[in-house]
Parts: sequence; structure tokens; C-alpha cells
Amino acid sequence: MKKNIILMGPPGAGKGTLAKQLKDELHLVHISTGDMFRDAIQAQTELGKLAQKYINDGHLVPDEVTIGLVKERLSQPDCEAGFLLDGFPRTTAQAEALEKISREISREIDVAINLDCDHQELVRRISGRRVCKNCGAPYHIESMKPKQDGVCDLCGGPLYQRKDDNEEALKVRLEHYDSETKPLLEFYSKRGLLESFNSLLGKEQLFDEVSSFLKK
Ligand code: ADP
Ligand code: ZN
Repeated sequence: MKKNIILMGPPGAGKGTLAKQLKDELHLVHISTGDMFRDAIQAQTELGKLAQKYINDGHLVPDEVTIGLVKERLSQPDCEAGFLLDGFPRTTAQAEALEKISREISREIDVAINLDCDHQELVRRISGRRVCKNCGAPYHIESMKPKQDGVCDLCGGPLYQRKDDNEEALKVRLEHYDSETKPLLEFYSKRGLLESFNSLLGKEQLFDEVSSFLKK
């Protein structure tokens, strides 16, 4: 089984949704840098105050901040079971730092799963996305409606729209993806670690295909 996993793909490709399914199925730790930053913003910590300046407009948080955060998280004992890195690495500097860190702590990456998705569908997904404020479960106003408007099916928490899920910030996020993150596909392909899946398959089929691949 592959247990130290990177999830890659543009914003809206479904990394977070897939990570939540895989974490339960495979008993892995889910490490989402986006969620960590959003938690820090909500808690108004120093990290949150710093991250907020970048995130809301769709920019990337500086590498040294993000790398330090991930290094600390990956070193925790629970990651021994295996981990899903969701939203990290996003730049070449982050990918190089991750190689060094994972070697140091003997938790080397087994695979980088890439989710392919076309541009039009990304825009549709992000612009209709709603997220549970309480548990982070994702919804869509047309294609993944909650049973009751504005309320999470899982925990009853309120649904909200992320500040960076608007047209302007999304444009910036997609530009960062193309210029800084997309080159990492080549980085992992060269190392023989890249495995691509079609995100248009739909949530359940995508989960089935990725989880059977990871179990091999
Ligand atoms: P998405 O994949 O939908 O863009 P995330 O929740 O993964 O959303 O990330 C939200 C925001 O958090 C990013 O736009 C960026 O500002 C910040 N962020 C998350 N991960 C990183 C990272 N590895 N490096 C820099 N910034 C990050
Ligand atoms: Zn919820």
C-alpha cells in the first residue's frame, strides 16, 4: 500500500473532497495547508493574520512560512500511519524542501496523485462551492446540494462561501497554479512518482479508482 501521498491539481479539482474520503478509508492523516491557514485566520493567531493578507486575494502564502508549518506537522507521531498532503507542495521550493524533510524524518513520498480537470468546470465548481464552517464538508449550490439550504448534512453547521471563491481571486489562484504549481507535475513525473486521474469522473468513481490504486 502507498501511504505517504501528495494530492495535486488546480483549485476546484476536488483534492479536499477526495482527501476526506481517502482518509477515512485508508486511515491516513489529512494535512491541508489551506485548512490550516483558515483555522489560523479564524483563531486570529499571528500565522492567521499573516496568511489572511495573501489568501483572500488568491495569492500564495510565502514559502518559508508554509514550509515551516508543514515540517512541524509532518514530524508529529500520528503521521507515522501515513499522510495525505492536500495543497502542498505548490511551488518548486516547497517540493524541494519536502524532499529534504521527508528524507530527514524517514517518511518518503510514495506517490503524487494528480487530478486533471478542465478550466470551465473548475470555474463552475468554485463559483458554486459552499463549505461547512464547522466541519469543512464541501457542497455545491447546484450539483451537491445539502438536504436543507445553508445547513451541513453531516454536523448541522452553517454553510458559507470562502472569501477567495470569487471570480477575481479565482483568476489569481489559477494563474499561480499555471505558473508555480503546474511545473511540479514534471518534477514528480521525472521521479516516477506521478499518477494522474480524471476529476470529471465524479466523486464516487474517482474515489474508487484512486483508493484501489493506493491499496496496490
Ligand atoms: P484551493 O486548492 O481550492 O485553492 P486551498 O484550501 O488548498 O484551496 O488553499 C487556499 C489558499 O491557501 C491558497 O489560495 C493559498 O493562498 C493558501 N495556501 C494553501 N496551501 C498553500 C501552499 N502550499 N503554499 C502557499 N499558499 C498556500
Ligand atoms: Zn459540517
